[in-house]
Amino acid sequence: MMIRFAIIPLLLALNFSMCKRHESAANSSQPATSSPAAGSPAVAPAASPPKITKAVVDQTAQTIIFCYHRLVDKVRYPGTEITPADFEAQMKLLKDSGITVISMQDLLAWKRGEKNIPPRCAVISFDDGWKSQYEVAWPIMKKFGYPFTMFIYTEGVRGGSLGGGEAITWEQLADMRDNGVDIEAHSATHQDLREGHNIMLAAPGGKKTRTKLNGPEYQKWVQNEVVGSKELLEQRLGIKANCFAVPFGNYNEHVKELARNAGFEAMFTVYGQPITYTSPLDSLGRYAIEANKPKVFVDAVKMISTSSGGASAVAEVGAANLSTQPADGETVRTALPLIKANLSRVGAIEPGSVQMRVSGLGVVPVSYDPNTGTASYQVTQKLRGTSSTVILSAKSEGKKVEAHWTFGIDVGAAAPASAAAKATTTPKKK
Ligand SMILES: [Zn+2]
Repeated sequence: MMIRFAIIPLLLALNFSMCKRHESAANSSQPATSSPAAGSPAVAPAASPPKITKAVVDQTAQTIIFCYHRLVDKVRYPGTEITPADFEAQMKLLKDSGITVISMQDLLAWKRGEKNIPPRCAVISFDDGWKSQYEVAWPIMKKFGYPFTMFIYTEGVRGGSLGGGEAITWEQLADMRDNGVDIEAHSATHQDLREGHNIMLAAPGGKKTRTKLNGPEYQKWVQNEVVGSKELLEQRLGIKANCFAVPFGNYNEHVKELARNAGFEAMFTVYGQPITYTSPLDSLGRYAIEANKPKVFVDAVKMISTSSGGASAVAEVGAANLSTQPADGETVRTALPLIKANLSRVGAIEPGSVQMRVSGLGVVPVSYDPNTGTASYQVTQKLRGTSSTVILSAKSEGKKVEAHWTFGIDVGAAAPASAAAKATTTPKKK
């Protein structure tokens, strides 16, 4: 009993720090926690809940996950191969684009709300266990200092029924493990895991037969693919595998359930998409990078480059650079000011693209003189309140540029009494 008392708070703390799918486990341990408190009132103060300190994570961060296969000098199967030079160029592009390569485990820790990640990240993964991943990709990854994940199907490792001469060996995987490479599961024989789909079965003698499995036969087979392969990987390498890359991305609710019950925290498909804080953990899309489709990589990088900033990119221009009138922060003594800005320092302005907004008025008919670069508007309807904000925007070389400034209005003694009265009847202040 003494041992149980000590373990329960620990278990509780663990459950709280984990994600939602562990809720059932937390609930089942609740009766156990209430009984010691009731049985021994002397220890009641100790029953106060453990303090959970969670890292404040940036929920707007985004990650793209890449999936590579073989690295070869001469591409013969562009669907799964890439040259080392192209691969290295892509790794460099991530760096140059300000995208941080993080580990899969950091991505999952962020999804659990336990660890922060930079705003724009990438996770690199290699599928199927090829020796070129050990011999060629790994040195390049070391050069950049990038972490990565290997998704291994156990029969495809050298010596397995599907592991030929180009396959990675268990020794190479152990070497990677010892050097911090994340090794995760990718089934046993790399096939469509859904019931009733075409698969290839290897008989003990090595003879292969094409077949479809249903019912108990299928259950036994798929159990080995999802659960058996995980156990084998964990036993051979002494690791914990919490990620499952679904072969070809072919799965359904049943396969998901099997994987969840086996203890996989995350499941991966090959339908690339930016991963956000709320992306479901059982279908995280990865971009499969193929030699003949370099655009997939570029587009994926663009996805988070543009989507993380919200709307389309707008270059903010300081009002001081536009010699605005009234100036930012200046107080004018009229409710009918002339508003002016000089856009000549912004660059070439596209004709007809200049727009001015004035708070309380909305869009106003601004006039723009391309010779002087001056945008101006004479206010014709008295501005109310004690300040006014101007937003001036234009297009320059295809980009939207925008300037904001605010000036004060103090009509003071110069203002007729009626204006002051008007101001009080219409409280337009923020
Ligand atoms: Zn694969």
